[in-house]
This record gives sequence, C-alpha cells and structure tokens, in this order.
Amino acid sequence: MNKLMVVGIGPGNTANMTEACRNALLSADAVFGYTPYIQLLKPWFPHKNFFETGMKSEIERCRAALGLAAEGKTVALVSSGDAGIYGMASLVYELSPEFPSVTIEVVPGITAAISGAALLGSPVGHDFGVISLSDLLTPWEVIEKRLRALAAGDLVICIYNPASYGRPDYLKRACDIVLEILPSSRICGVVRNIGRNEESYAITTLGSLRNTQADMLTTVFIGNAKTRVINGKMITPRGYNA
Ligand code: SAH
Repeated sequence: MNKLMVVGIGPGNTANMTEACRNALLSADAVFGYTPYIQLLKPWFPHKNFFETGMKSEIERCRAALGLAAEGKTVALVSSGDAGIYGMASLVYELSPEFPSVTIEVVPGITAAISGAALLGSPVGHDFGVISLSDLLTPWEVIEKRLRALAAGDLVICIYNPASYGRPDYLKRACDIVLEILPSSRICGVVRNIGRNEESYAITTLGSLRNTQADMLTTVFIGNAKTRVINGKMITPRGYNA
C-alpha cells in the first residue's frame, strides 16, 4: 500500500520479463502505462486493473499513478525495456515531493541495448554509449554534440529513437555527423521489433546505415574501430589475444 513500483517490462516478450517484474505486476492493484505496452500486458495479466494513456501525457500518467498510490493502493507504472532508460523512473522521482506518503520502488528491466545486442552477437563487449535521437525533450544541438563526443571517443554507439513519423530522416542526419569522424566502412547493426513478431537484425556498414529506414521500434548500433563480423554476427572484442 502507498507504493508505486516503476517497472521495466523488457523488450516485449514474457521470456525477457524478469520475475521481479512479473511479481510487481501480480501484486499491483492497478497498472498504468502507455497504450501499446498495456495492450501487450493485458493478455498476460487478464484480471488486472489497467489504465492506458497516450504518448506526450507522461506527466499526467505519473501524477495519476502517484495519486492512486497516495490513496493507499499498490500501483505499477510500466515502461518498455528498463524504466530508468528513457522511461518514467526519473519523472516519478521528480514529481514525488508532491506525494510524500508514497514509497517508490524501481524494478529493472532488460533495455533494448542489451536485448538487441544479444541478437546481433556481442556488439557492446567494450565501452559503449547510449544516445536517443528524439529531440522532443532534448535540443538537437545537444544530441549532435554528444554524438560527436561518442564518435571521437571511439565508443560503440547505441542509438535509441532513431526515427519516428515526424522525423523520418534523423538517422541519416546522425550518420552524417558521425561520418565526419568515423569511416563509412565502420561495422553497424540494426535490430527491429525485439521480442515481438517480425523480430529481425541486420549487420551493415556506416555508409549503408545512412540509407537505412528506421522506425520507432528500431535500435541501431555503431561499432568501434575494433568491431568486426564473426560468423555473421557483430562482435566488439574485449582485447583478448584469441
Ligand atoms: N525504456 C526503453 C527505451 C524507450 S525509448 C528501454 O529501456 O528499452 C524507445 C526506443 O527504444 C525505441 O525507439 C527503440 O530505439 C528502442 N526500443 C524499445 N523497445 C524496442 C524493441 N522491442 N525493439 C527494438 N527497439 C526497441
């Protein structure tokens, strides 16, 4: 009671949902989330009390979940992947001073960088950075600056939100920025619909990635100078002399 659990549900299949996530959802009196995630969860938890909200109503959704918890309920608020990575966990904490009676718990989930990496092979076997191309909450200049820094540092780059309906060409723009520093032969990977129907992955080069159409369920990986293809998989070596 008086508890809000901020829960990462993983990429979208039950196999990649943690037991802690399942227990959190089972123990909740109500589950809040973005409509597509709630649609995904409904068949697995048919007797739950679900509250769905659309995109761009995140503050409202978090306040509603915190408000119900303040009334004495145990509430779950779900994000895909991990709730702390481009999810709702930080916003819940930012709003929490308005709801002093509520205890908050974050339940970790498998983020797209990790579930996607497993499909590609082992692309994040060394230092890597995660960046979102969505400029809804972050100015594009900041995104550009961070992309350049990741490329200059030769980190493996993992790109979330590479495109959406409103910004179909952002992946191309991001590629053009890193191509100022990285060669077009750099090994890259693209994963789509992880844990869902039509799950797929492809290995390509930075030059070809530029012309790849991504959507909202695509995660992109740009390798470092050592990344190579072994047995059809994208591998970033740790440095062993194998
Ligand atoms: N909290 C989520 C990320 C939300 S941002 C997590 O930890 O995974 C949304 C972006 O995550 C998408 O645009 C895509 O880049 C990535 N993503 C989330 N789920 C995905 C899936 N099932 N398949 C491929 N990419 C996914």
